[in-house]
Amino acid sequence: EGMTIIELAKRSGESIHALQNILTNVGENIGSEFDSLSIDIAELVAMEIGVNVRRLHSCEGAAVLPRPPVVTVMGHVDHGKTSLLDALRSTSVAAREAGGITQHIGAFVVKMPSGASITFLDTPGHAAFSAMRARGAAITDLVVLVVAADDGVMPQTIEAIAHAKDANVPIVVAINKCDKPAADPERVKVQLASEGLPLEEMGGDIQVIEVSAKSKSGLDNLEEALLLQAEMMELKARIDGPAQAYVVEARLDRGRGPLATAIVKAGTLVCGQHIVVGAEWGRIRAIRDTAGKLREDATPAMPVEIEGLKGLPMAGDDITAVESEERAKMLSAGRKKKLEKDRLLKIDEGKEVSPDPLEDVPVRVEMPVIVKADVQGSVQAVTDALKSLNSSQVLINVVHVGVGPISQSDLDLAQASGACIVGFNVRGPSGCVGTSATKAGVQIKVHRVIYHLLEDIGSLIVEKAPGTF
Ligand code: GDP
Repeated sequence: EGMTIIELAKRSGESIHALQNILTNVGENIGSEFDSLSIDIAELVAMEIGVNVRRLHSCEGAAVLPRPPVVTVMGHVDHGKTSLLDALRSTSVAAREAGGITQHIGAFVVKMPSGASITFLDTPGHAAFSAMRARGAAITDLVVLVVAADDGVMPQTIEAIAHAKDANVPIVVAINKCDKPAADPERVKVQLASEGLPLEEMGGDIQVIEVSAKSKSGLDNLEEALLLQAEMMELKARIDGPAQAYVVEARLDRGRGPLATAIVKAGTLVCGQHIVVGAEWGRIRAIRDTAGKLREDATPAMPVEIEGLKGLPMAGDDITAVESEERAKMLSAGRKKKLEKDRLLKIDEGKEVSPDPLEDVPVRVEMPVIVKADVQGSVQAVTDALKSLNSSQVLINVVHVGVGPISQSDLDLAQASGACIVGFNVRGPSGCVGTSATKAGVQIKVHRVIYHLLEDIGSLIVEKAPGTF
């Protein structure tokens, strides 16, 4: 545990004196440079000097046990990702225990007759996957690549393959909609092979399962295939000791405050612990499983909902248990400061690349946007997707994001900043909010599919800046 100032100086290349100054500034009393710093303090200091730290929990002797795989569903739009997740969810533990009623908390668990279980992430799509990866959350063990049997390999199928390969995550292919008369699984297989996927029946190692989300056929085969793949990967995790976990989704509940769905990667998360979650902190007041039942703790691959955070974290944020409230506050403050520094740095970089007004280049059109979505995970995914539209001619400026329906205050902000409002998986403005939006001439775009949303915003950009695309 921890390291001495001398060690930290050696590894970071900073002088011992500079480090001691920082320590004094964060209110830490250090007697000598041979004193050991706790891992939290070491992280704080490292952040101050701009060094990235990674916590390695060396828990020698701790039991390492097999753990369930965590699976993400990807594929082309309309190929049935949501339907497949719905079908799988209906066989989940929560659905059985709660008599078919499940809450969407961002993940669910399917238990097989053999006793083995699989954890599915509930947010389909590449944007969510990329957002998590971008934040360093290597939480997915396997990808289910959904390809519609009547439509075959499409652009986003290829994109999904690229994402999975890039992240080094094995693929299991689910050929969906096999109930349709126009289904042609054999054609899909040939297409996949020509995309460079070594399918099992052609001598490779990628399993292909034919399913129908509609008639719920082939689901058990798919689950078996995922378990087989997981078995080959020998997934294991340390059970005892401090938890290392990730946020898959976060939302604000009126009564219970910020709620985060977490999946533990290693160790055990325990009720009552003080935690730092990304740049937020809190004390775990309650842990609930996917059926909404209270638990004392959470072990690897088990999705749980955590209550007791002081602020709303983001999908992909890491969760670290710390020893005291003081530590939690300090780390959170340090991380917030660093985020702000990075943000300002980015703005500076942005200024550098903006075109010189004296040169004969088209002016970059700025599009202020407000993003509202159902859950924090979607907010993140939509924001990232919108930013992917940025180019030398267009700058999407996300002026505000939030979870929940489009409100009057969003409208006020939109009017003040000349922004359009993008709603994802939320209802459009109702009643007087809708009326005042029309009056104020604020554009509101509400969608349930990111791809459609991007198309819509794309055409808005073209309106504003003809000849952009
Ligand atoms: P996503 O965009 O990939 O999430 O696709 P959705 O799950 O929203 O499905 C797109 C459309 O395909 C919907 O109209 C579904 O009802 C339909 N669909 C999904 N799975 C199946 C299936 O197995 N068979 C048939 N016939 N239709 C399906």
